[in-house]
Amino acid sequence: LYVDHPLSEGQSIPLEREQAHYLFGVMRLTTGAYVALFNSRDGEFVAEVAEAGKRGGVLTCVEKTRELQMPPDLWLLFAPIKKARTDFIVEKAAEMGAKRIVPVQTDFTNSERIRQDRLQAHAIEAAEQCGGTYVPEVADLQKLDRLLTDWDEERQIMFCDETLVGAAEALGDVKDGKWAILIGPEGGFSDVERKRLHALPYAHAVSLGPRILRADTAAVAAMTVWQQQLGD
Ligand code: SAM
Repeated sequence: LYVDHPLSEGQSIPLEREQAHYLFGVMRLTTGAYVALFNSRDGEFVAEVAEAGKRGGVLTCVEKTRELQMPPDLWLLFAPIKKARTDFIVEKAAEMGAKRIVPVQTDFTNSERIRQDRLQAHAIEAAEQCGGTYVPEVADLQKLDRLLTDWDEERQIMFCDETLVGAAEALGDVKDGKWAILIGPEGGFSDVERKRLHALPYAHAVSLGPRILRADTAAVAAMTVWQQQLGD
């Protein structure tokens, strides 16, 4: 269970209503039961249910069971698409170990608003389900143009461009360290965006094969390629 609370031995953790509902209503845990907790900072702890109520409860941290496993410094930048597909992208990015997920508004992005809180909840659920100790931060929607203007040049960009022909660039030859994967919207990138990205020395245009993939498929494929070449 993910909690936004410091974790250490003996620490009491108050539960929010939804967490109490899940643990005591859905999972049917009662006082004395044990729960695995993590908070993206202190690793994983086993905690005991001290108080169980319908609207809340308290857990007591017993002992640390795992150290924090920080993901690699990989961001996923993607243009939000339909709701269910956007949810899918966030879920898969959290499972595959992205450190930060950034929805971006590009020239051809259809949606101008996202529910950041909903997407963050999806990331938490995905991390909980795959036994992670870290939940990626989901940022609010940002304009690609602005993001590139303020870009930290130390962070390499794996720019997924379906108009390229040939195999994916060997990213391992480029640079280890901070990375961001960039996936375009259903309509792809505009010529202006493509030109700008191709001119950036820290952006590496990559093909994900000869077929045009849907943006959600492309996000998973790109993370797999990155993981295979640079992940640990
Ligand atoms: N512009 C295209 C069109 O309308 O024909 C489709 C864009 S595609 C559905 C969405 C995004 O997925 C692209 O902007 C790109 O980032 C990524 N993508 C899809 N297929 C790809 C491929 N074969 N290689 C690299 N990137 C790909």
